Amino acid sequence: MRYIFITGGVVSSLGKGIFAASLGKLLQARGYRVTLQKFDPYLNVDPGTLNPYEHGEVFVTSDGAETDMDLGHYERFLSIQTTRDHNVTTGKIYQTIIERERRGEYLGKTVQVIPHVTDEIKRRFTLLAQKEPYDIILTELGGTVGDIESLPYIEAARQLHYELGPLRVLFVHLTLVVYLDATQELKTKPTQHSVKELQQAGVQPDVLVCRTARSLPKEMRAKIALHTNVPRNAVIQALDVPTIYQVPFQLRKEKIDEVILRRLRLPLRSEPDLSQWQTFVDRLQNPQQTVRIGLIGKYVELHDAYKSIHEALIHAGGWRSTQVDIEWIYSGDLTSENVERRLKGLQGILVAPGFGERGIAGKILAVHYARTQNVPFLGICLGMQMAVIEFARHVLGLREAHSTEIEPHTPHPVIDLMPEQKEIVEKGGTMRLGAYPCEIRRGSLAWRIYQKPLIYERHRHRYELNNQYRTALEEAGLLITGRYPEKDLAEIIEIRGHPFFIGVQFHPEFQSRVESPHPLFGAFIEAATRHQSD
Ligand code: GLN
Repeated sequence: MRYIFITGGVVSSLGKGIFAASLGKLLQARGYRVTLQKFDPYLNVDPGTLNPYEHGEVFVTSDGAETDMDLGHYERFLSIQTTRDHNVTTGKIYQTIIERERRGEYLGKTVQVIPHVTDEIKRRFTLLAQKEPYDIILTELGGTVGDIESLPYIEAARQLHYELGPLRVLFVHLTLVVYLDATQELKTKPTQHSVKELQQAGVQPDVLVCRTARSLPKEMRAKIALHTNVPRNAVIQALDVPTIYQVPFQLRKEKIDEVILRRLRLPLRSEPDLSQWQTFVDRLQNPQQTVRIGLIGKYVELHDAYKSIHEALIHAGGWRSTQVDIEWIYSGDLTSENVERRLKGLQGILVAPGFGERGIAGKILAVHYARTQNVPFLGICLGMQMAVIEFARHVLGLREAHSTEIEPHTPHPVIDLMPEQKEIVEKGGTMRLGAYPCEIRRGSLAWRIYQKPLIYERHRHRYELNNQYRTALEEAGLLITGRYPEKDLAEIIEIRGHPFFIGVQFHPEFQSRVESPHPLFGAFIEAATRHQSD
């Protein structure tokens, strides 16, 4: 078992998650059993209660953990499943320690950052290794080197390196070589400083990965190597690329996998097999057609809030040599006066997940437009709930139909809490979360899409379609074609007679992979493509 730690320097948003996933992919493609985990230095126990504007989307694992969106990159790139143990926060570390302290497990002792916090961090660093026989565990340390809150993590990683030795623990530091437009020069000083910062904490990076807008001349690599104590061949450049899917190839060209495996005294084995991946990238980059999809949501200014949906659309389009042009539409801007003008020309309408009242009316208008104009429609979670409300209002004539999340006293609660959710007051990790089985009705659109009777998809919501309205909805043409058998909950809805109208209570986007796109997004893209030729 080997550990690779990935730190970041100079600035945040360097794409550490994509880098980590790409490196993991290369090692996996050489035949190693690889997994990736993320340690986040904030005090929330998990990101589940965070607004997407803080850290982007909340990614849900199949075992029902609300985690950092980088786990989404890991799953999509490596086609692996992560778990609640793959994302650790300072909040989780402290919660464990404080609970232990209250149980009296430290009786008589002062509880301190060193050794108690660092010991707990080390225990978590190595936890996955006890559950599965991985060859290599990559650990991405969130934040930027030099942040006060990251220090205990770097210290714990340093200790692990000391304890297990340099053949089992390796440090990769991702940094930025700044390009100055005014003088047209690349500058290495910030990189030097960020490595010094690591060295002061007792960590010598083994590999430096330099993000850069221009190619690094040989002399510049030599200079960086000299100042940072990193061997020349381990100073890797990561040039900006047009798509994140090229990053594994770019790193391969720089031979980072070979540098790392040699350093860890592991055999190189075969050349990495990235043929599937290459086919995808080739098709993605040579599209034969374009499709315009409207993504209707309330956090659209921040595309990261819908990362997995975005990626799932790109995977589905890419494999079909179709360029997906996403139009990001803020639902709060839609009114009955402008909705037609704003949505006209779209070949598919996707109403996004979400919470709370803002932008709700606009989502209902978008559903109405898609339903009545026969535009292919995909509603995800809140998007599905809005489709039920729209149908109840305009087809069943229940003008005041609503979700009790938005309108607790509505006379027609077509979307409502399940009884067991009504008792819950705590907010953290209490939704219906993670993978649940869903039974699909034969002959339905969902059946044609999934081509199997039982599927598993991931959930993250509190509210459900209210079964009291089910018969009325079905009789009027809103069909419930997917069901969670144990509790008889509606998981998929469709509208009879519409060319493509489907709403799902779950989040299919969490299971789309670069090498195996999700069938629901695929079918949506295909329907949208057909809509164009009509
Ligand atoms: N707010 C809705 C619920 O809790 C939908 C959640 C979502 O879209 N993820 O049921």
